[in-house]
Amino acid sequence: MSAILCPSCGSDNCQSFSILNAHGTSVVNTSTRTAGVGVGRGGLGVGTAKSRTTGTQQTAVGAMTAAPAKKRLRWQVILSIVLVLFGLSKITHGIGIVMLIVGLALAYWGYTRLRYNQNVWPQLYSDWQLKFLCNKCGTVFVNQPSYTSPADEEVASTVE
Ligand SMILES: [Zn+2]
Repeated sequence: MSAILCPSCGSDNCQSFSILNAHGTSVVNTSTRTAGVGVGRGGLGVGTAKSRTTGTQQTAVGAMTAAPAKKRLRWQVILSIVLVLFGLSKITHGIGIVMLIVGLALAYWGYTRLRYNQNVWPQLYSDWQLKFLCNKCGTVFVNQPSYTSPADEEVASTVE
């Protein structure tokens, strides 16, 4: 494995966003400060102080290096199907037509989110997988393993 070098300062002390994100998340989980008594094994933590040990908190680095999220669309799909079916069953009434229209609009919205997940998100995610942070100078850069011509390295070093 060849070392990942920072294009700005040339340091090899660089970490990928995925590792930084996992690290930033776990650090919070272990170092959460609870002023009261620790949570007992039985789970009956009589918290005199507010404990926010949810495990979902992240450090600033953890949040900064979070992977791009897919758009959720499960409830849109379910709700649109329900609305369309119900609207069709009551199509002779005004409310049925309204529900049908709302259901179709919701379906279209879900469709646009599905398209995002299929077309936009994979590119964002692959970009994220190639992102690195230099621990020495703090530069964030994208490591292109298959595309490192000398000319590009020269450009990268001259651009501050
Ligand atoms: Zn650097």
